[in-house]
Amino acid sequence: MLYALAPCRNAARKRGKPRKNCASFDLLLKTLLLSQVFRGTSVMNAFVIDAFEFSRSNGSREGVTPVAEMTRLAKDCADASGSIAWKVEGSLSKPHGYPQLRLSVDGTVQLVCQRCMTPFASPIKSSTVLMLGKDDADADEIEEIIDDETIDVIVGTRSMNLMDLVEDEALLALPHTPKHDVCLDTSLLDKAKSEKVSPFDALKGLKS
Ligand SMILES: [Zn+2]
Repeated sequence: MLYALAPCRNAARKRGKPRKNCASFDLLLKTLLLSQVFRGTSVMNAFVIDAFEFSRSNGSREGVTPVAEMTRLAKDCADASGSIAWKVEGSLSKPHGYPQLRLSVDGTVQLVCQRCMTPFASPIKSSTVLMLGKDDADADEIEEIIDDETIDVIVGTRSMNLMDLVEDEALLALPHTPKHDVCLDTSLLDKAKSEKVSPFDALKGLKS
């Protein structure tokens, strides 16, 4: 009996509603199929779009997402503070009429300076055009026809998660070697620590 109940609970969780009874395996299948059908609608996830329809109808979405909600990005940062403002706009390319998404991110993340190894706030700002192919072959063909290296051609789907695209864009916008423009001179503060000089004297030394 336990074995029979376990998948029912999983199915209920997927749909976001607790379900007390699970009549049959047939119902479980129907539940799974329905959850697939509704994946592309706002009912399930406000950030999942039909990328082709979104492009055709000149769709537009924007928002501000905390770095803490982007696990892959947060992993590459010194901490999960800060947030990313983003915008996704759909359109059809000219002159070919290929579906495309213009994706912009603008925010600040905490990175570790590779010269002095202290964290600092690094602004990231990036904008890119993603053209959409129906499958790999279609994407390759579009790439060849447009012959433009500034445009990425990806395989679009009818249930694309905008947040994945936004997070990818933010990750690509991170500097390869994060560095302060000018590193703080920590030598005087280190000296203050080792010689037990008061921090105020150390600061005076920094000013002069
Ligand atoms: Zn530095």
